[in-house]
Amino acid sequence: MKKCALFLAVLLLSLSLTGCTASTEQTMSFSAMDTVITVKLYGMDFESANTAFSECRNILTELEALWSATIPNSDFCRINEAAAGEILLDFRTIALLRLASEVQTETDGAFDISLAAVSALWKRCETENRLPAAEELTELLSHSGNGTWELSDRGIVKTDPSLCLDAGGIGKGAAADALLAYLKTTSATGGMISFGSNVVCFGQKTNGSAFRIAVKDPKDPGSYAGIVTLSADTSLSVSGDYERYVEIDGTRYHHILDPMTGYSCNSGLSSVAILCESGALADALSTACMVLGYDAAMELQHSQTYRFEAIFLFSDGSVRITDGLRECWSATGSDLS
Ligand code: AMP
Ligand code: MG
Repeated sequence: MKKCALFLAVLLLSLSLTGCTASTEQTMSFSAMDTVITVKLYGMDFESANTAFSECRNILTELEALWSATIPNSDFCRINEAAAGEILLDFRTIALLRLASEVQTETDGAFDISLAAVSALWKRCETENRLPAAEELTELLSHSGNGTWELSDRGIVKTDPSLCLDAGGIGKGAAADALLAYLKTTSATGGMISFGSNVVCFGQKTNGSAFRIAVKDPKDPGSYAGIVTLSADTSLSVSGDYERYVEIDGTRYHHILDPMTGYSCNSGLSSVAILCESGALADALSTACMVLGYDAAMELQHSQTYRFEAIFLFSDGSVRITDGLRECWSATGSDLS
């Protein structure tokens, strides 16, 4: 398969600022939320772009301080450490949890932000080089999912003291939404935010060309399975079984968990890309669809609960897309059925 420089996760690890005239693009990459973020702005002079990039960093620093479970006193840290009862939260966390709860309901529990303890168990098992025991998973799963938490006007009510939440499946998309909302208030005439496996564009490129995004080939994440043309204000989120994993006794167990079993999901899909109007929703749905598998994901799409399009990359290498993407997707090297 062809190699392509335009990958979703851009491998620029340190701050870099390029460009110097108003007519060209200005780009900055930095790390936050355990991932690499690249922001590209069009039609902006160097100084204004620099100011915008600083503000992007401020926005992300604030959101990370709310949503990271490892930053002391973050909203997620306070939720996870609290006993049962109400925990007051920032309005942005409440909005995030509201969407997470709704997607959990609409996907019959496939999306579940209460699997933090199960993910932690898998990480611990990797260091101990053993598989989790069935009883360990059953015990942890009994403190997740339906009935373990609910939202109040001011925060969350923890009904199970052992509940542990993890924004990993939705937070990056939501943070991309926050960056997009801010950048649209600046003088940039267009731009692109690449946030790990979440991408969104706005306005227009200086040269008027389309925003074309390569979707990684899950079998060879150094190559791409195809290219999608992304309309402005449409968010793209990709979830894949190749992204993060633990390795136990030579076998890889990827990071997207089936909330029914506590094991890595195994729905026949290696990767799912979702396109829709909200980054947070695209992020949550891409994770959920990995668990749901193709048939249930298509049922969700046909139900029109959410308006979204999807690219499904199956474990056997085949690719299927929803009807709305016929004009926007060109496959590279994979079967397109
Ligand atoms: P993503 O890369 O957006 O698909 O998110 C995967 C991350 O979400 C994992 O690394 C976990 O932190 C968390 N996660 C794992 N399984 C689920 C699930 N079934 N529902 C919601 N979040 C999950
Ligand atoms: Mg996700």
